[in-house]
Amino acid sequence: MICVISKKLIDLGVLVLRQHNSRRNFKPHISIRFRDNYGDLRMFSIDTTRTMAKHSCPDAYLITHAHSDHHGKSAMISSNSVCSEKTAIALEIRYDRRYAGSIFRLGDEIDVGKVKVKTFPTEHTSGATAFYWENDVGTRILVTGDIKDAGKLPPCDVLITEANYGDPEDPSCHFVDDFEGMKYALFKHEPVAFGAYEFGKAQRAVKLIREFGYDGAIHMDARTKTLTQRMLEDAGDLEGLSSGENDGVFIVAPWNLGRLPLDMKKYVLSCRMDYPYPIIKISDHLDACGLENMVRKLNPEVTLIYHPGGYRPSKFSKHLNSIGIDSISIDQIGNVLSNEFI
Ligand SMILES: [Zn+2]
Repeated sequence: MICVISKKLIDLGVLVLRQHNSRRNFKPHISIRFRDNYGDLRMFSIDTTRTMAKHSCPDAYLITHAHSDHHGKSAMISSNSVCSEKTAIALEIRYDRRYAGSIFRLGDEIDVGKVKVKTFPTEHTSGATAFYWENDVGTRILVTGDIKDAGKLPPCDVLITEANYGDPEDPSCHFVDDFEGMKYALFKHEPVAFGAYEFGKAQRAVKLIREFGYDGAIHMDARTKTLTQRMLEDAGDLEGLSSGENDGVFIVAPWNLGRLPLDMKKYVLSCRMDYPYPIIKISDHLDACGLENMVRKLNPEVTLIYHPGGYRPSKFSKHLNSIGIDSISIDQIGNVLSNEFI
């Protein structure tokens, strides 16, 4: 069964689907069905796990970036997966398996089947990509993944985007990066430790620390160090976490801060408030106002909010509708089993 929830999308020649897994739960994220310029039906799955072999596969698994909640770990072993060079490298380092799909240099236009797809940076992580293509009736479709900077994204007719901080009524969804706070913490204390996820935030932290003028050693665990060396050109002196080392700057996952010496000053780089350490607000996302400004600027006819799980896609979608911007959220989208496609 296909449940049509947006006449406007149908008029634009775009069908948005969710698929079931073997236990008939929804698979994560969505698939987009459309006709290409030759009139052939195509399906791109966005940040989804792989489809079971007995069902028809999508023409492409578009992987926006290498965070685990975008499911590259599953899609990366399909030859139909498509992601940036840096995303492929990050996936291989993080999951210790070979990336089997096709890659592109971020910013390139690529052929996915017979569809010309343009790629744009979103600055959420190294390699994070927005995908843009047109269908047979000229509808401009843009999939952003997670976004830190929408400045390079093109206008579109169908916008498929995130709402990690998309609840305008939640005070934690409004923030500005506290660069001064981080700079102060960096130079006030030595040693100092920053809690940051190994992929994305850790590389942002290194980049900022170097921009602030610190050129000493930055200590991190082996995998974070490898990721940072491969993602950044000018990471400077990166060292491991050898026992007894107690000088300089440390970057570890927030839950590993407790393993560092008791007398070391510790912070978490986050906009979440549920850590037992002082927070310095440094985010890899747009906040609620940033997301709304992006939608206004890209000026789509329909905005589809597909990420993350939970209630924020619905909250952001309802907010957009309340200010006159046509929007739907992933929880409103109907479903279809892969072998039931028309
Ligand atoms: Zn992400």
